[in-house]
Amino acid sequence: MTNSHAARDIDTSRPHSARMYDYYLGGKDHFEVDKKAAETVAAAYPGIFVCARENRAFMHRATRVLAQEHGIRQWLDIGTGIPTEPNLHQVAQSAVPEARVVYADNDPLVLKYAERLMRSTPQGRTTYMEADVNDPDALLDSPALAEVLDLDRPVALSLNALMHFVTDAQDPYGLVNRLLAALPSGSALALSHCTPDFDPATWQKVTAIYTNAGTPVRFRSREDVARFFDGLDLLAPGITIGHRWRPDTASTATNAEVSLWTGVGIKP
Ligand code: SAH
Repeated sequence: MTNSHAARDIDTSRPHSARMYDYYLGGKDHFEVDKKAAETVAAAYPGIFVCARENRAFMHRATRVLAQEHGIRQWLDIGTGIPTEPNLHQVAQSAVPEARVVYADNDPLVLKYAERLMRSTPQGRTTYMEADVNDPDALLDSPALAEVLDLDRPVALSLNALMHFVTDAQDPYGLVNRLLAALPSGSALALSHCTPDFDPATWQKVTAIYTNAGTPVRFRSREDVARFFDGLDLLAPGITIGHRWRPDTASTATNAEVSLWTGVGIKP
């Protein structure tokens, strides 16, 4: 990455969702402006730290279940975020060393850390590409994707904490359907999505903070999140709050703290 590219694309004058999320997770890859915005969110919604942690934990469990119980060997993870260990490929490859993972994010900052996403097992393969979920055709047609994924064999589409950054005007259901249409039977959708359902007043504040920071958001109800799974066979226990999707250990978190609908579906 050249300096001019960095100067143009990595804007440190305003908060970025990927860097704010890094702050929620206790990472170090954010700037003062992100920390300030994230602290404003946390003041309105102290559950944000639990939400971020439970979101990662859901990704770990969903990845393992797909690898171990549904024969998935390939993943397309869009909205990857700044790397946080264990990353998806580390979870997948510890279950199946030959797992192949394509990571994509539209924040140029993530590219800076992409090397951390490329430390694959020798049997598997990983890559990172800068791409926008709003342009699924460009994403699917990318040579980088074709090098790693065989679209004739099942792929898990992983959209964790991504689709609430896609507003209704951007046709979120059409985008997900377009991505799933390119994948064969036996493929999967693993998705997590923040929701105002348990504490609407707080989520109204969170929406205002993100929107004012230049990041439009659309947090959705259970019913609206369920629509992403239309036409898929939902794995048990269906659409649940993150920490209730096949938990490894009992969690003391409340639904309002977690405020994240999660689910995994298989394409028939
Ligand atoms: N999936 C990770 C990170 C979630 S944070 C996890 O669940 O832990 C949301 C990420 O989505 C950020 O990194 C942000 O840059 C990315 N993102 C937001 N809008 C996007 C878009 N239109 N296309 C691709 N990535 C996007």
